[in-house]
Amino acid sequence: MDRPDTTVIPPDTVWLSDPAVQSVCRAISAEGADVYFVGGCVRDALLGLDGSDVDMATNVLPQQVMQLAEAQGLKVVPTGIDHGTVTVVAGGRGHEVTTFRRDAKTDGRRADVTFCDDITLDAGRRDFTLNALYATPDGAVIDPLGTGVVDCLARRIRFINDADARIREDYLRVLRFFRFHAWYSDPQQGLDTDALDAIAQNGRGLENLSAERVGAEMSRLLAAPDPTPAVAAMQQTGVLQRVLPGSDLALLGPVVHLEASVQLPPDWRLRLVALGGEDVQPRLRMTNKDAKFVYKLRETIGDLKSLREIAYRFGLDIAQGTLILRAAMANEVLAPFQLDPLEMASKARFPVSAMDLMPALQGKALGDRLADLEAQWIASDFQLSRDALITGK
Ligand code: ATP
Ligand code: MG
Repeated sequence: MDRPDTTVIPPDTVWLSDPAVQSVCRAISAEGADVYFVGGCVRDALLGLDGSDVDMATNVLPQQVMQLAEAQGLKVVPTGIDHGTVTVVAGGRGHEVTTFRRDAKTDGRRADVTFCDDITLDAGRRDFTLNALYATPDGAVIDPLGTGVVDCLARRIRFINDADARIREDYLRVLRFFRFHAWYSDPQQGLDTDALDAIAQNGRGLENLSAERVGAEMSRLLAAPDPTPAVAAMQQTGVLQRVLPGSDLALLGPVVHLEASVQLPPDWRLRLVALGGEDVQPRLRMTNKDAKFVYKLRETIGDLKSLREIAYRFGLDIAQGTLILRAAMANEVLAPFQLDPLEMASKARFPVSAMDLMPALQGKALGDRLADLEAQWIASDFQLSRDALITGK
């Protein structure tokens, strides 16, 4: 087909020329089916960003996708076959291939899907115009709704069709709206007011969402370079209070700023602690590791230990987070060199062991003595040697 004015994916986009990706496309289209790249990968490529998963869409049924891929020797996993998704493994990576569909019935969380052969219907069931973009295997962009490319390039997050109706179909879209806002929107541009009104009207629906999904969205939102405007909009629409009751915006901006001023990459857990809030873990269901980090950091901000002791006892990440949070609370500025002593402290190893004090000391007396020597050693800024500690000289 001749498309004189088509937008194309920038030819230097890495995944577009990835042989594994292309082998999946060839397998699915081998008998004449259509296959397109869709969603985040097309959006990100148009914005010159890299790193999104490469998702695909096709007009053939999931069972056929499996047969076509297997016929070319590719492994397939029916990851979400009921809603049309199979994962095709090529080049050691999974590629999600989803059959065109429309959402027949929705209950605010899950949809009954009907497969179809119509790319425009498939585009219409997606959330935002910039996410309803497709590209052919050779990189020609297809914009079935007509406004996706313009909105994407203008960094505008707009619901497809009526915001209120789309939110009632799936309340997760409220959080996705703010996440995409945090990552993609032009900070000079205000948010779409229709969307904000609809969000403010539908706050109660957020209670339908599982803690895992809320947590996954919030962590991704807070990982954006500067999530402050998006979180402020969440607060204005009442969403923040529902998701994280008791949270407060005051420290978020300073923490984001301080993180950058000491040249650390964005850490969503630190931003979450900056927001505060009650019952964070039951509401967000984080991994154990993240929850431990968040709760430890909440504890260390206010306790009396020095930053060096915190670095020694709890590790560098916790100490850096504590430094930033304490500075934010005290309205102080920071510079990168202030991380150096924390790095040193996090590597310090206490030179005395129980063996050094036995058999003269045993049991509780031994434990007390070790703790006492460790405290002296920490107070010396990890300088006192083993001999000096043991002999007391
Ligand atoms: P990223 O993977 O970078 O988060 P993405 O846009 O690829 O961005 P996914 O969650 O992977 O996001 O979803 C893939 C596509 O599926 C989206 O681009 C969008 O078109 C559609 N989509 C995902 N979730 C929803 C939803 N809740 N409602 C409507 N469409 C959705
Ligand atoms: Mg994706």
